[in-house]
Amino acid sequence: MGLKHPKGPQKKIKDLKIDPLFVQEGDGTIPRDRLGQDETDPDLAYQIVHDELMLDGNARLNMATFVGTWMEPQAQKLAAETFDKNMIDKDEYPQTADLEMRCVSILSHLWNAPDVDKATGCSTTGSSEAAMLAGLALKRRWQHKQKAEGKPADRPNIVMGINVQICWEKFANYWDVEMRLVPMEENRFHISAEEAVKLCDENTIAVVAILGSTFDGSYEPVQDICTALDRFEEKTGIDVPVHVDAASGGMIAPFLDRDLIWDFRLPRVASINTSGHKYGLVYPGVGWIIWRDAASLPEDLIFYVNYLGSNMPTFALNFSRPGSQIVLQYYNFLRLGMEGFTKVQQYSRDIAVHLASEIENLGPFELITRGDELPVFAFKLKDEIDNFTVFDVSNRMRERGWLIPAYTFPKNREDLAALRIVIRRGFSFDLADMLLADLKRQLPLLERQPEPVHDEKSGTGFHH
Ligand SMILES: *Cc1c(COP(=O)(O)O)cnc(C)c1O
Repeated sequence: MGLKHPKGPQKKIKDLKIDPLFVQEGDGTIPRDRLGQDETDPDLAYQIVHDELMLDGNARLNMATFVGTWMEPQAQKLAAETFDKNMIDKDEYPQTADLEMRCVSILSHLWNAPDVDKATGCSTTGSSEAAMLAGLALKRRWQHKQKAEGKPADRPNIVMGINVQICWEKFANYWDVEMRLVPMEENRFHISAEEAVKLCDENTIAVVAILGSTFDGSYEPVQDICTALDRFEEKTGIDVPVHVDAASGGMIAPFLDRDLIWDFRLPRVASINTSGHKYGLVYPGVGWIIWRDAASLPEDLIFYVNYLGSNMPTFALNFSRPGSQIVLQYYNFLRLGMEGFTKVQQYSRDIAVHLASEIENLGPFELITRGDELPVFAFKLKDEIDNFTVFDVSNRMRERGWLIPAYTFPKNREDLAALRIVIRRGFSFDLADMLLADLKRQLPLLERQPEPVHDEKSGTGFHH
């Protein structure tokens, strides 16, 4: 959510003048940025809020976000039935607490925890909170180790690719951990094992590997990173754990890339997070963090809440939170099973691969990724095109309601500007063909343009 701040956009909010047919008393205006003196009729209040929100984009045409925008009607019904549940109230809602624990078990199985009974974990508000918890556990573990060895524990660092999602910058900033970033190089748009290990030392609390880079949907080489860290340990005696940020890929790879070894099958992987509200197919508001065993989550970070007269361990940044998202996650697990998830995710990948190759065939574009890892692909304009930019393409497509973000890459590829398309549940081949038709219609207009109109300053955010 935005922060109201003096440095933010300043907007004078005028009072709302109500349709005179609905005015029952007063002067027919309602203040919008402070509490009104009187109450408003509920139907009128509903209509006002409903109407204002019509100006929000159409979530289904939003090709920028990874976050769930469609669920089955049965899920919507369950959501409406469970909006009132506070998941922290384990004593009042023991069954919701039970569903949460079942989801943790399901994910521990899915990610091949060596002993599911020993794996530990919980729901979070999303991968961002999960990253904070994972990072805190790694930092605390490292501090304990340093202190036990009589070494200083005040200068921790964490190693990752420059393509990490902003939540890791927050983690480093908020919890005083030095961020060591591996830059991009030529056509390497994410971390490499070799470069990661070069940045490690005895103050490294972990290497973060991303299963599914938000920049281009590519998987980072988790297994190679682990192997390189094994060799690093043999040479130096320094044992650096790995955390996998599988915000998206944690719910793709187990179904579509079953031979890919990226999870707890690698002994060095201490913890994994995913966003339930991305390819876990739930509406916004849920993520998951799993530790391979209790030793990976230091006991002194855990708090206990009352649960049916006994003590339930918790680890979270916040306290009260809706229980409905957990219910919806469990619904999806129950509803889809291995087969269902495989079908849903395969359909998204098929669309991504199809759309990517069709876009490649249009002529002016060059693919950076092909949609065959995450169902996500990034593409750029061919170098010889100088009369329009990816930002122009993004703007043109917006005229038809499509939100396709354009953005520049970070160090050392600031020269590269790309577009990115995310395919997720609720998007169909039919919609893909419509998107393609709109892109084809816009291209002749763009090609006739004498010079670029939009640059990166008019770019759209994509860090979802
Ligand atoms: C989306 C994303 C996040 C942040 O996840 P939220 O669930 O939105 O908090 C973190 N890491 C990666 C790789 C992501 O794709």
